[in-house]
Amino acid sequence: MEKCWANILGNCDGGISREHIVSKSLFTGTEIDVKGFAWCKEESKRIGIEGITKKCLCRKHNSELAHLDAAAGHAFNVLRQQTKLYNERAKVPDKKFKKITFSINATSLEKWLLKTLLNFTYNSEYFIGYESNETGRPSEHLVKVIFGIESFRDNNGMYVAYKEGGVINSCDTVQFAPIIKDNKYIYGGKFSFRGILLFIDITPGGMNVPFEDIPGTTEEWRNIYMSKKFKQIKARHGKKISHVVNFKWV
Ligand SMILES: [Zn+2]
Repeated sequence: MEKCWANILGNCDGGISREHIVSKSLFTGTEIDVKGFAWCKEESKRIGIEGITKKCLCRKHNSELAHLDAAAGHAFNVLRQQTKLYNERAKVPDKKFKKITFSINATSLEKWLLKTLLNFTYNSEYFIGYESNETGRPSEHLVKVIFGIESFRDNNGMYVAYKEGGVINSCDTVQFAPIIKDNKYIYGGKFSFRGILLFIDITPGGMNVPFEDIPGTTEEWRNIYMSKKFKQIKARHGKKISHVVNFKWV
């Protein structure tokens, strides 16, 4: 029988439900490029959000995490808006504009990224997290982090990756790729959303190699800086600040 990935908490209820791996309300574009699994090892496959469902959570645990979907939905909406605003204002450099302040709940976004990584990799041929003792299953620690019972260890958690000069690539796609160590362990996940790169790190002790050293790293993830507990996106046109996006860690 299908199991809930949070069954380690021991209080599953309501039966298993078929869930969208990526909360479908998040994306106005309904496709995502996925790369790195057995079925999309060499090149990314474009799949519809509607099409990727999995029986991975019981109804009780799914509903307990609904607030993460809502927070991530809000965060992605802000990121979408800020990219749009940046591009619009770049087209009319002489026009006066007001500085706009956005904010997102970074703590919930971080947990949502981990939840989505678990959804993607659940029932795969990999151990999810270095402490997992069964393939296709997450470690107890990771499940507890998502439910707020434990905290990320060491340097694990969400990173925002950015390039020199802070250029925001305006590409309009959503991408996901897992980091797989020794063809055995899931060590993290890379998300790209409207040119914003987010990395969820679950490596032992925190990731200490640049992405350049990982085979299959795409151009987008080369020559980047990674920032932990990221505080703010500051978008400028010339010397003027167009807008800021504050990442609130609560
Ligand atoms: Zn459950």
